[in-house]
Amino acid sequence: GDIADLVRSRIRDVADYPKPGIVFKDITPLLADPSAFQSTVEALGSPWLGASPAVDKVVGIEARGFILAAPVALALGAGFVPVRKAGKLPSAVLSRSYALEYGEATLQVHRDAFAPGERVLVVDDVLATGGTVEATTSLIREAGAEVVGVSVLLELAFLAGRARLEGQDGFDVRALL
Ligand code: 5GP
Repeated sequence: GDIADLVRSRIRDVADYPKPGIVFKDITPLLADPSAFQSTVEALGSPWLGASPAVDKVVGIEARGFILAAPVALALGAGFVPVRKAGKLPSAVLSRSYALEYGEATLQVHRDAFAPGERVLVVDDVLATGGTVEATTSLIREAGAEVVGVSVLLELAFLAGRARLEGQDGFDVRALL
């Protein structure tokens, strides 16, 4: 559709970033275009707009996820919760480590980020292998909340992130592209 075409036209392929052989999807042209940015935020949140029961919190994953998740939270009348790389959150945290191609990464969330049973939507820019979102959804559940959906701008289907998430409880995974 028109929105998908607009959004697609504002994502730039950067060859050999962050290393040789990788084609990185650069969303900075999209963020710089107010109409594409606005349409993206609306499209990321719209499946949950007016949901009953409502979404209580939108989680953004550091760092590009923050940029998209915060305006989605406001559009849904929900709060915003950051999931951050290790050592960045000031208060008591829960942690999850997950494997990268080389080495591992650790994500954290504040232990008291959610009230028991709160309904949470996870927003990020790109779903690739799904490791980042899987670590995030397991942190949210450990913190006592319920994941109701995952909304991403772009899914790299050949990396099968969606299949990896299907092992977890039933929540919707939506991708604009
Ligand atoms: P995954 O854990 O699914 O393999 O990787 C997803 C995470 O890496 C996301 O947080 C995303 O921001 C980042 N990522 C991986 N590949 C790309 C890419 O091509 N473009 C952008 N913008 N982010 C990417």
